[in-house]
Amino acid sequence: MSTDVYEGPATIEKLAALCRRRGIVFPASDIYGGVGSTFDYGHYGVLLKNNVKQRWLDAMLRERDGIVLLDSAIIQHPRTWEASGHVAGFSDPLVDCRTCKKRYRADDLEHARCERKPSKLPGQGPECDLTDAREFNLMFKTTIGPVAEAGTEVFLRPETAQGIFLNFRNYMNVMRRRPPFGIAQIGKSFRNEITPGNFLFRLREFEQMEMEYFVPPDGAQQAFEEWVEARRDWYLRYGIEPSRLRVRPHGADELSHYSTQTSDVEYLFPIGWLELEGIAHRGDFDLRQHMEHSGVDLRVFDPDTETHYLPHVVEPAAGVDRATLAFLVDSYDEEEVAGRQRTLLRLHPMLAPVTAAVLPLVNKDGMPEIAERLYAELRAALPVEYDDSGSVGRRYRRQDEIGTPWTITVDGQTVEDETVTVRDRDSLTQDRVPLGGVRELLEDRLRSSTGFSPAR
Ligand code: ATP
Repeated sequence: MSTDVYEGPATIEKLAALCRRRGIVFPASDIYGGVGSTFDYGHYGVLLKNNVKQRWLDAMLRERDGIVLLDSAIIQHPRTWEASGHVAGFSDPLVDCRTCKKRYRADDLEHARCERKPSKLPGQGPECDLTDAREFNLMFKTTIGPVAEAGTEVFLRPETAQGIFLNFRNYMNVMRRRPPFGIAQIGKSFRNEITPGNFLFRLREFEQMEMEYFVPPDGAQQAFEEWVEARRDWYLRYGIEPSRLRVRPHGADELSHYSTQTSDVEYLFPIGWLELEGIAHRGDFDLRQHMEHSGVDLRVFDPDTETHYLPHVVEPAAGVDRATLAFLVDSYDEEEVAGRQRTLLRLHPMLAPVTAAVLPLVNKDGMPEIAERLYAELRAALPVEYDDSGSVGRRYRRQDEIGTPWTITVDGQTVEDETVTVRDRDSLTQDRVPLGGVRELLEDRLRSSTGFSPAR
């Protein structure tokens, strides 16, 4: 059953504070006062984000066949964006308020607040004086060449997909691929968003995970349906609460210029249902456009019918930062244990930045030596860390807040009988296990958390 109100303990503010406090995400250029809605990922954030990307790559490359990789340039030939429709159409309508100088998206005023009278929408306050809406292109411009006036004007890519279409011919000729096959890419994209905000939700510089699946036209509808389901299942598999996830087909009036059918995978954030990922049936729009604008034949020869055709494309397009935010929101929890408040991230073990932390109970009596040896053994196989600073309670809290699923404590008994305790982040149970069996135990638990042996 899905509702329309998020009822969990997370808020965007609490998460941003936790991320900052624990070295997951910092506001960028902090010492200069920050640049709006721009963030730097700290150590644990990089590990978390890498895991999100790795799980996506597992789904593309290891759990199925027929998808290959690409890492294309951020700056492509400027005609790319004429052909793709971005120069003419990648814009949002913008309105300014002459009174408070604030800027709004004209198509999203119902989610905005008047600067002077926050109980009102922009335009409804007594002093509001909104301009007419004008179209604002979201692409960042820059120039190639040392002298701006003489340089060529180019754009930072607003999506990774076009780099894939530009390489389609290379994959046909060099990689000898024939539809159906997919090209997957993860990389940075840039959009000069009018209203960035909500922490990692809407950024001007962000990462995308996109895959273009090329199919003969008569297979496109089935491929579209399969990809919608596969992408929804991916979020569920990595722990998203089912009642907070839904697939929403676009109405005819919402479809992008290139799409004949699109469904969004949406997540119920504390700020409402919002898009995590779009799966679009793009038809042959992109290949046809690039064929016409470049003059290069991008058709495929079908030996059965002895005809040439343009493949159709199904595209699952996800945001790394947005998925990371959803996993953070969804895993955030607060509870009271023995009269004390505990905050934790119940992250899926295959997403957690650190799989296990090794803790000597005290820094004496032979415990640090054993703990360091165990740490060195585990470190070679898994993302683990060693923590010996502060009381053990504090160290548990620190690991809970970065979502470490298991904490291994070396105590007095370890010195006597070579056993350690393994504390489970979620249930708080402590199992005593032989020192020599810890690595296998962790690897088994990771494997059983996905039913698949994923790449770390
Ligand atoms: P929105 O409607 O939220 O602006 P969109 O429909 O323009 O998103 P797409 O062009 O389909 O987004 O991009 C694919 C995915 O890239 C989105 O589902 C989202 O996860 C991510 N994405 C897009 N814009 C941003 C952004 N400004 N910040 C963070 N992630 C983004």
